[in-house]
Amino acid sequence: MSQVYLNGAFMAPQDAHISPLDRGFLFADGIYEVIPAYNGVLFRFDEHLIRLERSLAETAIDNPYRREEWRKLCEELVARNGGGNLSVYLQVTRGVAAKRDHAFPNPPVQPTVFMMTGSIAVPAADSPDTASGSRAITLDDIRWARCDIKSVSLLPNSLLRQQAVEAGASEAILLRDGFVTEGSASNVFIVKNGTVLTPPKSHAILGGITRDLVVELCLRHHIPLEEREITESQLRQADEIWVTSSTKEIVPVIQLNNSPVGDGVPGPLWKTVARHYVTFKRRLCGHQDQE
Ligand code: PMP
Repeated sequence: MSQVYLNGAFMAPQDAHISPLDRGFLFADGIYEVIPAYNGVLFRFDEHLIRLERSLAETAIDNPYRREEWRKLCEELVARNGGGNLSVYLQVTRGVAAKRDHAFPNPPVQPTVFMMTGSIAVPAADSPDTASGSRAITLDDIRWARCDIKSVSLLPNSLLRQQAVEAGASEAILLRDGFVTEGSASNVFIVKNGTVLTPPKSHAILGGITRDLVVELCLRHHIPLEEREITESQLRQADEIWVTSSTKEIVPVIQLNNSPVGDGVPGPLWKTVARHYVTFKRRLCGHQDQE
């Protein structure tokens, strides 16, 4: 039986009740994080917590716990759900106000904290030689101007992802004013002539934890990498395209808008970086059992 966490207690999901006056429900007034755990060990926990703290600060939502308290709660939730390979989803909303009003409740109310775990599919990076790759389409980035905040307000991302799914793709790569921003739930990398490119961090993209690790691994292993804007035509002419996220790690995109990317198979630099990623992960979390 799975367990979730709500406002101070662990419980079965069906026992977790939230008021319809919660500002998360009425206004999507909340932020979230997704932290992977491998072998029950949280991966890049501090990096996720730093981003959580930033999202809370940017939205002026009180942080209900100190970092070590968050760590203990996440570890306990993972353990209560059987350990192994899991993602921890955690959400903090501004809380339950007495009435619906756009302005924040005054005096402030207790934030609502909800956490649950999810399963993690075996990532492509775990088996670079047999990975098949995925398909993506390009769409206009219709989101707001503060995509650096990990807000639960994901309606545009959902609409975009759904359009991709209906087109037979697994991700939408977003374009704003002719430049790549990111995926509907991922960051984007391309490879051109042996150099890895990814857009620089800004208010237009989420500062992905996986993105930062891929940048770090490229630098450490002397793989040429530049953080700079990518135009739509550079995307279309890329030798390789990758999308990254905490639960999917680094996924090679082999088809963009029904045209092959490069040779139409996962590229050599993806394989190299995927191997570095998996080595790094195993060093921190041990060898994962395949699911
Ligand atoms: N951008 C967006 C819009 C996302 O939703 C995600 C995944 N939550 C990412 C990028 C990747 O971030 P991370 O590597 O921290 O999971």
